[in-house]
Amino acid sequence: MAATVLDGKRLARQIENELKHRVARIRRSTGGRIPVLATILVGDDPASATYVRMKGNACKRVGMDSSRILLPEETTTRELLAEIDRLNDDPRVHGILLQHPVPGHVDERACFDRISTGKDVDGVTAHGFGLMAMGASAYGAATPAGIMKLLSHYQIPLEGRNAVVVGRSPILGKPMAMMLLNANATVTICHSRTRNLSCIVRAADIVVGAVGRREFIRADWISDNAVIIDAGYHPGSVGDVELSAVVRRCAAYTPVPGGVGPMTITTLIAQTVESAEVDAAGPGPAPANERG
Ligand code: NAP
Repeated sequence: MAATVLDGKRLARQIENELKHRVARIRRSTGGRIPVLATILVGDDPASATYVRMKGNACKRVGMDSSRILLPEETTTRELLAEIDRLNDDPRVHGILLQHPVPGHVDERACFDRISTGKDVDGVTAHGFGLMAMGASAYGAATPAGIMKLLSHYQIPLEGRNAVVVGRSPILGKPMAMMLLNANATVTICHSRTRNLSCIVRAADIVVGAVGRREFIRADWISDNAVIIDAGYHPGSVGDVELSAVVRRCAAYTPVPGGVGPMTITTLIAQTVESAEVDAAGPGPAPANERG
């Protein structure tokens, strides 16, 4: 049987259409307010600039606003923290995206963690990660949360299955592993010090490539009927997995491009809309122990 293509581009378009209605509803219920995503780009890395532009374009497509903050390469941690404080305090802003990576001299973790949990729509704070890992309410890291939406949409069973995540970065590998664990998969996390990687990948029902190295996960490591999620994107439209040699014998796969990438952006936008909905609903009744 032909493998299922986990078509992120198509699902993202469908979700965007739903988001347009939700944004219109927020406008009506608030007398014209629209959700705003603030994006911060430090330095002039062309790839990062492209990602930020794509996120701004997605905001436009659903009727939201984005506010672009461009900071020079020499911005200090202190200056960036001050900018984040300003956005945290700005009631017009519903979500904050600090584009990764920031220049090496900036303490990225400190800056991520300064984003208030309610505006952490990219799911990058340690606090948000902790809540998510505990199964509590938090915006998940956008890329793995988008992957989970894709798996759910295509009804890929996760419970009890062996999932192998290759990569353990704070924005992708680690939260991916926690989300799969929360969905009752049996999860193995691999990294640069993992031994016998090919054997571990061979035992996987679900393989997530989150390494950042072109076709690093070889086709002959992957078992027949596995589900392949490839987060990588490299010149020549290839990812972190040697996909072309395995598409005929796997159960399902994310195409590169058009798989994980569009789902990341749509998830970021959806989480910003959710934050604006929370804001539009206003404060609920105070808990009993806080009432006068
Ligand atoms: P990253 O921070 O560079 O992390 C890479 C991970 O791969 C690290 O955990 C590293 O292990 C591991 N690794 C490196 N060499 C390895 C090896 N020989 N064997 C096993 N593991 C190895 O990258 P990232 O930000 O997570 O991104 C990973 C990929 O996803 C990249 O291709 C990136 O472009 C892509 N990505 C895509 C999207 C999207 O929206 N489509 C979003 C984010 C990232 P150590 O921890 O031991 O160093």
